[in-house]
Amino acid sequence: MEPSDPGRPPILVSACLAGLATTHAGVAKPNAVVMELVRQGRAVLVCPEQLGGLPTPRPAAEIVGGSGEAVLAEEARVVDVDGRDVTANYLRGAREAAKAARLAGCTTAILKARSPSCGHGRIHDGTFSGVLRDGDGVTAALLASQGIEVLTEEEVGDREL
Ligand code: SF4
Repeated sequence: MEPSDPGRPPILVSACLAGLATTHAGVAKPNAVVMELVRQGRAVLVCPEQLGGLPTPRPAAEIVGGSGEAVLAEEARVVDVDGRDVTANYLRGAREAAKAARLAGCTTAILKARSPSCGHGRIHDGTFSGVLRDGDGVTAALLASQGIEVLTEEEVGDREL
């Protein structure tokens, strides 16, 4: 195994993009760029929903009444498809992910697009109908508020990390 390059910073990543079966359906969503960071020893893996105490698999959830920014401001809630309010789990997971970023010294995060935790820029609209709205997931919103650059796997492209 090659050692991580001390001259290149660690990157916070969604665990599902790094090949772990953490999604609500219990599957992985491996992404080539994130898998390369794992191979280099530079990826700091977090699954905010697991860190918030939710099981895997688990019911799908969406933010109702706003985006992650509104959840942080206590102006919107996260509700699963069975109607259970999981806002507290999402807030706890976001805080734990932010802690991981702080402990590891991450200034950039690559997070899963459209997730109610990890999504950046566009997320599902809370109707469980596949419709998207502008905004970030709860963890992405908290990280961004703390000055961490948040990208989805769809935004990384071939940029230098
Ligand atoms: Fe976990 Fe985020 Fe992946 Fe959802 S998108 S499974 S919260 S890492």
